[in-house]
Amino acid sequence: MSENKNKLRNISELGEFGLIDLITKNVTIHHKNTVMGIGDDAAIIDNGKLCSVVTTDLLVEGIHFNLIYTPLKHLGYKAVVVNLSDVYAMNATPKQITVSIAISGKFAVEHIEEIYEGINLACKHYNVDLVGGDTSSSMTGLAISVTAIGEAKKEDIAYRSTANKNDILCVTGDLGAAYMGLQLLEREKEIFKSTDGAQPKLDGYDYILERQLKPEARKDVIELLKELKVKPTSMIDISDGLSSEILHICKKSDVGCKIFQEKIPIDQNTEQMAKELNMEPLIAALNGGEDYELLFTIDINDLDKIKDQPMIHAIGHIADKEHGAVMITNAGQSITLEAQGWNQMKEE
Ligand code: ADP
Ligand code: MG
Repeated sequence: MSENKNKLRNISELGEFGLIDLITKNVTIHHKNTVMGIGDDAAIIDNGKLCSVVTTDLLVEGIHFNLIYTPLKHLGYKAVVVNLSDVYAMNATPKQITVSIAISGKFAVEHIEEIYEGINLACKHYNVDLVGGDTSSSMTGLAISVTAIGEAKKEDIAYRSTANKNDILCVTGDLGAAYMGLQLLEREKEIFKSTDGAQPKLDGYDYILERQLKPEARKDVIELLKELKVKPTSMIDISDGLSSEILHICKKSDVGCKIFQEKIPIDQNTEQMAKELNMEPLIAALNGGEDYELLFTIDINDLDKIKDQPMIHAIGHIADKEHGAVMITNAGQSITLEAQGWNQMKEE
């Protein structure tokens, strides 16, 4: 590392996306079969009949999870699910994973067994094989990196960059619950720390807690869309909040969009928790993270096929780039969407 500190730039100036841009600006693609490199939910490699889909995610203790309130089995499960979500977001089917872990001295054999119980459970549930990985010790805490490999027919793959004007924007499930689950866990952690022996009050909050601690990837939606014969014109998974993901699609597809606040699906458990914490549930849906729902666009002619599906909600449409990416509020105001996301590297 260079000693001249005056010339060094602070990473927080760039933020996560700025840093990825910096890392990747000098990357050269050498092979024709690298159909998609950096820049989508997963890379795509053309193998002739089928394409391989590859994605990886790293979970770091203290950054992505807090072991005070995260059961290790759930952590193992979630580490797999967040990767599978990126494979589904390409409209592909995950088949294999590799798992790499770095373990600090505070962990016992039983702890690692618990993590792998969760990993194996996710493999069973999503029908994927654990085929390798790497194991290391760590100075500071636990890190888990999972790589998922999937497959899809080339013509089935849905990118972020292919949304067209007038396409309908859809989201699955409901949004903001995982974020409210995290807020609840953080509140109880603070009470536990500041009040001697106070036990966390988590009863009755099952839904938001499960959304935070044991999320699922939308395998069911990908299967449903195939059944309905709907191919999304573009797709991304919602890991950083709706606003951030909509802006990814708009930027990559060179379009704008209009969404409607009243159409954004928010569960009543999320609303209730937000009320209790004096927060706005809409903010959790737009800017909270870790919902692992899918955001996709469909041709307007496919709208009839999805409109009675309870798992899928049409929230707006794609517009010309000049219109920007806007949300019409319930009061009729037009608000420009901003990517707040979980930009952990960028200081507020
Ligand atoms: P997602 O939220 O879907 O997991 P990310 O925002 O993490 O996607 O990453 C965006 C793109 O940047 C992906 O194509 C990812 O593979 C790539 N990427 C992220 N970090 C790195 C890195 N350190 N080196 C190379 N590519 C990276
Ligand atoms: Mg993604």
